[in-house]
Amino acid sequence: MVLKSFSLEGKVALVTGCNSGLGQMIAIALAQAGCDVVGVNRSNRGDTASQIQALGRQYYPVSADLSDSSVVPRAFEEAVAAAGQVDILVNNAGIIRRNEAIDFTEQDWDDVMNTNIKTVFFLCQQAAKHFIARGQGGKIINIASMLSFQGGIRVPSYTASKSGIHGLTKALANEWAAQGINVNAIAPGYMATDNTAPLRADKVRNQEILDRIPAERWGEPTDLAGPVVFLASEASSYINGYTVAVDGGWLAR
Ligand code: NAD
Repeated sequence: MVLKSFSLEGKVALVTGCNSGLGQMIAIALAQAGCDVVGVNRSNRGDTASQIQALGRQYYPVSADLSDSSVVPRAFEEAVAAAGQVDILVNNAGIIRRNEAIDFTEQDWDDVMNTNIKTVFFLCQQAAKHFIARGQGGKIINIASMLSFQGGIRVPSYTASKSGIHGLTKALANEWAAQGINVNAIAPGYMATDNTAPLRADKVRNQEILDRIPAERWGEPTDLAGPVVFLASEASSYINGYTVAVDGGWLAR
Protein backbone atom coordinates (compact mmCIF):
# COMPACT_ATOMS: atom_id res chain seq x y z
CA MET A 1 0.00 0.00 0.00
CA VAL A 2 2.74 2.43 0.92
CA LEU A 3 4.28 2.14 -2.54
CA LYS A 4 1.12 3.75 -3.97
CA SER A 5 1.98 6.96 -2.12
CA PHE A 6 5.16 7.23 -4.21
CA SER A 7 3.22 7.20 -7.49
CA LEU A 8 3.15 10.41 -9.52
CA GLU A 9 0.46 9.25 -11.93
CA GLY A 10 -1.70 12.10 -13.22
CA LYS A 11 0.82 14.73 -12.09
CA VAL A 12 2.87 17.21 -14.12
CA ALA A 13 6.42 18.16 -13.13
CA LEU A 14 8.20 21.27 -14.37
CA VAL A 15 11.97 20.65 -14.35
CA THR A 16 14.46 23.39 -15.23
CA GLY A 17 17.72 22.60 -17.01
CA CYS A 18 16.82 19.02 -17.93
CA ASN A 19 18.61 18.61 -21.29
CA SER A 20 21.58 16.99 -19.57
CA GLY A 21 23.23 16.07 -16.27
CA LEU A 22 21.30 15.78 -13.04
CA GLY A 23 18.23 17.55 -14.44
CA GLN A 24 17.83 14.96 -17.18
CA MET A 25 17.98 12.12 -14.66
CA ILE A 26 15.49 13.92 -12.41
CA ALA A 27 13.05 14.41 -15.30
CA ILE A 28 13.32 10.76 -16.34
CA ALA A 29 12.93 9.49 -12.76
CA LEU A 30 9.77 11.58 -12.30
CA ALA A 31 8.38 10.23 -15.58
CA GLN A 32 9.21 6.67 -14.48
CA ALA A 33 7.09 7.37 -11.38
CA GLY A 34 4.18 8.23 -13.69
CA CYS A 35 4.10 11.96 -14.36
CA ASP A 36 4.34 14.10 -17.47
CA VAL A 37 7.18 16.60 -17.67
CA VAL A 38 7.57 20.20 -18.80
CA GLY A 39 11.27 20.85 -19.50
CA VAL A 40 12.37 24.48 -19.25
CA ASN A 41 15.69 24.93 -21.05
CA ARG A 42 17.54 27.55 -23.08
CA SER A 43 17.15 25.32 -26.13
CA ASN A 44 15.38 22.10 -26.97
CA ARG A 45 18.32 19.74 -27.51
CA GLY A 46 19.32 16.30 -26.28
CA ASP A 47 17.25 13.16 -25.85
CA THR A 48 15.25 13.93 -22.70
CA ALA A 49 12.03 14.19 -24.74
CA SER A 50 12.49 10.85 -26.49
CA GLN A 51 13.48 9.08 -23.27
CA ILE A 52 10.36 10.37 -21.51
CA GLN A 53 8.09 9.57 -24.46
CA ALA A 54 9.55 6.03 -24.52
CA LEU A 55 8.17 5.66 -20.99
CA GLY A 56 4.70 6.49 -22.32
CA ARG A 57 4.68 9.95 -20.74
CA GLN A 58 4.28 13.39 -22.33
CA TYR A 59 7.17 15.84 -22.59
CA TYR A 60 6.48 19.54 -23.18
CA PRO A 61 9.49 21.74 -24.02
CA VAL A 62 9.49 25.41 -22.98
CA SER A 63 12.36 27.70 -24.02
CA ALA A 64 13.65 30.20 -21.50
CA ASP A 65 16.97 31.70 -20.46
CA LEU A 66 16.74 31.56 -16.68
CA SER A 67 19.61 34.01 -16.16
CA ASP A 68 16.88 36.68 -16.40
CA SER A 69 14.08 36.26 -13.86
CA SER A 70 11.68 38.40 -15.91
CA VAL A 71 11.08 35.34 -18.17
CA VAL A 72 9.42 33.44 -15.31
CA PRO A 73 5.74 34.46 -15.72
CA ARG A 74 5.79 33.80 -19.49
CA ALA A 75 7.62 30.45 -19.13
CA PHE A 76 5.25 29.28 -16.40
CA GLU A 77 2.20 30.36 -18.40
CA GLU A 78 3.49 28.40 -21.41
CA ALA A 79 4.02 25.36 -19.21
CA VAL A 80 0.45 25.47 -17.88
CA ALA A 81 -0.97 26.13 -21.36
CA ALA A 82 0.87 23.09 -22.74
CA ALA A 83 0.42 20.60 -19.90
CA GLY A 84 -2.82 21.91 -18.34
CA GLN A 85 -1.34 22.14 -14.83
CA VAL A 86 1.85 21.97 -12.81
CA ASP A 87 1.96 19.91 -9.60
CA ILE A 88 5.71 19.66 -9.01
CA LEU A 89 8.46 22.23 -9.59
CA VAL A 90 12.11 21.14 -9.61
CA ASN A 91 14.55 24.06 -9.66
CA ASN A 92 17.58 22.28 -11.07
CA ALA A 93 19.17 24.72 -13.55
CA GLY A 94 22.34 26.19 -12.11
CA ILE A 95 25.77 27.46 -13.02
CA ILE A 96 29.14 27.80 -11.32
CA ARG A 97 32.08 30.19 -11.84
CA ARG A 98 35.52 29.54 -10.38
CA ASN A 99 38.07 32.17 -9.39
CA GLU A 100 39.98 33.38 -6.32
CA ALA A 101 37.68 35.53 -4.17
CA ILE A 102 40.23 38.33 -4.39
CA ASP A 103 39.90 38.46 -8.20
CA PHE A 104 36.20 37.55 -8.47
CA THR A 105 34.32 39.80 -10.90
CA GLU A 106 30.93 41.43 -10.48
CA GLN A 107 29.84 39.62 -13.65
CA ASP A 108 30.68 36.20 -12.17
CA TRP A 109 28.85 37.21 -9.00
CA ASP A 110 25.70 38.47 -10.77
CA ASP A 111 25.48 35.68 -13.36
CA VAL A 112 25.52 32.96 -10.72
CA MET A 113 23.22 34.75 -8.27
CA ASN A 114 20.69 35.60 -11.00
CA THR A 115 20.37 32.01 -12.26
CA ASN A 116 20.89 30.06 -9.04
CA ILE A 117 18.84 32.08 -6.55
CA LYS A 118 16.94 35.06 -7.99
CA THR A 119 15.17 33.16 -10.76
CA VAL A 120 14.64 30.20 -8.42
CA PHE A 121 12.78 32.45 -5.96
CA PHE A 122 10.49 33.83 -8.67
CA LEU A 123 9.83 30.34 -10.06
CA CYS A 124 8.85 29.21 -6.55
CA GLN A 125 6.57 32.25 -6.22
CA GLN A 126 4.92 31.60 -9.60
CA ALA A 127 4.42 27.92 -8.79
CA ALA A 128 2.95 28.71 -5.36
CA LYS A 129 0.46 31.17 -6.93
CA HIS A 130 -0.62 28.40 -9.32
CA PHE A 131 -0.81 25.79 -6.53
CA ILE A 132 -2.82 28.09 -4.24
CA ALA A 133 -5.23 29.03 -7.06
CA ARG A 134 -5.86 25.33 -7.79
CA GLY A 135 -6.26 24.50 -4.09
CA GLN A 136 -4.58 21.09 -4.39
CA GLY A 137 -1.20 21.85 -2.85
CA GLY A 138 2.02 21.13 -4.67
CA LYS A 139 5.66 20.18 -4.39
CA ILE A 140 8.73 22.34 -4.80
CA ILE A 141 12.18 20.74 -4.84
CA ASN A 142 15.20 23.03 -5.04
CA ILE A 143 18.58 21.64 -5.97
CA ALA A 144 21.05 22.74 -3.32
CA SER A 145 24.67 21.60 -2.87
CA MET A 146 27.31 20.61 -0.33
CA LEU A 147 28.07 24.32 -0.50
CA SER A 148 24.69 25.00 1.11
CA PHE A 149 26.49 23.74 4.23
CA GLN A 150 30.19 24.32 3.59
CA GLY A 151 32.30 27.19 2.27
CA GLY A 152 34.04 25.64 -0.71
CA ILE A 153 37.10 27.05 -2.43
CA ARG A 154 37.22 29.59 -5.31
CA VAL A 155 33.42 29.56 -5.82
CA PRO A 156 32.13 32.45 -3.67
CA SER A 157 29.00 33.27 -5.68
CA TYR A 158 28.08 29.59 -6.00
CA THR A 159 28.42 29.11 -2.23
CA ALA A 160 26.36 32.24 -1.58
CA SER A 161 23.64 31.12 -3.99
CA LYS A 162 23.42 27.54 -2.71
CA SER A 163 23.53 28.65 0.95
CA GLY A 164 20.70 30.97 -0.08
CA ILE A 165 18.77 27.98 -1.46
CA HIS A 166 19.05 26.25 1.92
CA GLY A 167 17.57 29.28 3.71
CA LEU A 168 14.98 30.07 1.05
CA THR A 169 13.70 26.48 1.14
CA LYS A 170 12.99 26.86 4.86
CA ALA A 171 11.52 30.35 4.51
CA LEU A 172 9.07 29.35 1.77
CA ALA A 173 8.14 26.08 3.53
CA ASN A 174 7.08 28.13 6.56
CA GLU A 175 4.83 30.38 4.51
CA TRP A 176 3.23 27.75 2.31
CA ALA A 177 3.03 24.49 4.35
CA ALA A 178 -0.51 25.31 5.50
CA GLN A 179 -1.65 25.41 1.85
CA GLY A 180 -0.39 21.86 1.31
CA ILE A 181 2.75 23.01 -0.47
CA ASN A 182 5.92 21.13 0.44
CA VAL A 183 9.11 23.05 -0.20
CA ASN A 184 12.23 20.93 0.22
CA ALA A 185 15.67 20.66 -1.31
CA ILE A 186 18.15 18.01 -2.35
CA ALA A 187 21.84 18.66 -1.82
CA PRO A 188 23.78 16.44 -4.19
CA GLY A 189 27.29 15.57 -3.11
CA TYR A 190 30.10 15.28 -5.63
CA MET A 191 28.30 14.00 -8.72
CA ALA A 192 29.90 13.01 -12.03
CA THR A 193 28.43 15.58 -14.50
CA ASP A 194 29.71 18.33 -16.85
CA ASN A 195 29.54 20.73 -13.92
CA THR A 196 32.28 18.81 -12.08
CA ALA A 197 34.38 17.77 -15.11
CA PRO A 198 37.14 20.31 -14.27
CA LEU A 199 37.40 18.93 -10.71
CA ARG A 200 37.59 15.34 -11.93
CA ALA A 201 40.20 16.31 -14.52
CA ASP A 202 42.43 17.72 -11.76
CA LYS A 203 44.15 14.53 -10.51
CA VAL A 204 45.09 15.94 -7.12
CA ARG A 205 41.65 17.45 -6.34
CA ASN A 206 39.93 14.33 -7.67
CA GLN A 207 41.89 12.07 -5.30
CA GLU A 208 41.39 14.45 -2.35
CA ILE A 209 37.65 14.37 -2.94
CA LEU A 210 37.48 10.58 -3.33
CA ASP A 211 39.55 10.09 -0.16
CA ARG A 212 36.98 12.13 1.81
CA ILE A 213 33.78 10.44 0.53
CA PRO A 214 32.82 7.55 2.86
CA ALA A 215 31.16 5.74 -0.08
CA GLU A 216 34.54 6.02 -1.91
CA ARG A 217 32.99 7.01 -5.25
CA TRP A 218 31.58 10.00 -7.10
CA GLY A 219 27.78 10.10 -7.12
CA GLU A 220 25.94 9.18 -10.30
CA PRO A 221 22.88 11.11 -11.53
CA THR A 222 20.81 7.94 -10.88
CA ASP A 223 21.57 8.33 -7.15
CA LEU A 224 19.07 11.22 -7.15
CA ALA A 225 16.18 9.25 -8.67
CA GLY A 226 14.73 7.79 -5.45
CA PRO A 227 15.11 10.95 -3.33
CA VAL A 228 13.50 13.21 -5.95
CA VAL A 229 10.52 10.89 -6.50
CA PHE A 230 10.06 10.65 -2.71
CA LEU A 231 10.05 14.44 -2.26
CA ALA A 232 7.72 14.87 -5.26
CA SER A 233 5.19 12.35 -3.93
CA GLU A 234 2.55 12.04 -1.22
CA ALA A 235 5.01 9.84 0.68
CA SER A 236 6.76 13.02 1.87
CA SER A 237 3.68 15.11 2.62
CA TYR A 238 4.77 15.95 6.21
CA ILE A 239 8.33 16.97 5.24
CA ASN A 240 8.65 20.75 5.01
CA GLY A 241 11.72 22.94 4.60
CA TYR A 242 14.26 20.13 4.72
CA THR A 243 17.41 19.77 2.61
CA VAL A 244 18.26 16.11 2.01
CA ALA A 245 21.93 15.43 1.34
CA VAL A 246 22.59 12.74 -1.26
CA ASP A 247 26.33 12.67 -0.81
CA GLY A 248 27.74 9.21 -0.07
CA GLY A 249 28.30 10.39 3.50
CA TRP A 250 30.38 13.51 2.70
CA LEU A 251 28.63 15.71 5.29
CA ALA A 252 28.56 12.95 7.90
CA ARG A 253 32.33 12.82 7.94
P1 NAD B 1 24.96 20.78 -15.82
O1 NAD B 1 25.80 21.95 -16.17
O2 NAD B 1 25.16 19.47 -16.49
O3 NAD B 1 23.42 21.15 -15.88
C1 NAD B 1 22.89 22.40 -15.55
C2 NAD B 1 21.64 22.61 -16.35
O4 NAD B 1 21.16 23.93 -16.11
C3 NAD B 1 21.90 22.48 -17.86
O5 NAD B 1 20.82 21.80 -18.46
C4 NAD B 1 21.94 23.93 -18.30
O6 NAD B 1 21.61 24.11 -19.65
C5 NAD B 1 20.91 24.54 -17.36
N1 NAD B 1 21.06 25.98 -17.29
C6 NAD B 1 22.14 26.67 -16.86
N2 NAD B 1 21.93 28.00 -17.03
C7 NAD B 1 20.68 28.13 -17.58
C8 NAD B 1 19.91 29.25 -18.00
N3 NAD B 1 20.37 30.50 -17.92
N4 NAD B 1 18.68 29.01 -18.52
C9 NAD B 1 18.21 27.75 -18.62
N5 NAD B 1 18.91 26.66 -18.25
C10 NAD B 1 20.13 26.85 -17.73
O7 NAD B 1 25.17 20.61 -14.24
P2 NAD B 1 24.60 19.57 -13.20
O8 NAD B 1 25.76 19.09 -12.45
O9 NAD B 1 23.66 18.60 -13.81
O10 NAD B 1 23.83 20.58 -12.23
C11 NAD B 1 22.43 20.56 -12.00
C12 NAD B 1 22.16 21.22 -10.65
O11 NAD B 1 22.76 20.46 -9.61
C13 NAD B 1 22.75 22.63 -10.53
O12 NAD B 1 21.86 23.44 -9.79
C14 NAD B 1 24.03 22.39 -9.76
O13 NAD B 1 24.45 23.53 -9.06
C15 NAD B 1 23.59 21.29 -8.83
N6 NAD B 1 24.65 20.49 -8.23
C16 NAD B 1 25.48 19.72 -9.01
C17 NAD B 1 26.45 18.97 -8.36
C18 NAD B 1 27.40 18.09 -9.11
O14 NAD B 1 28.27 17.50 -8.47
N7 NAD B 1 27.28 17.93 -10.42
C19 NAD B 1 26.58 18.99 -6.98
C20 NAD B 1 25.72 19.79 -6.25
C21 NAD B 1 24.75 20.53 -6.88
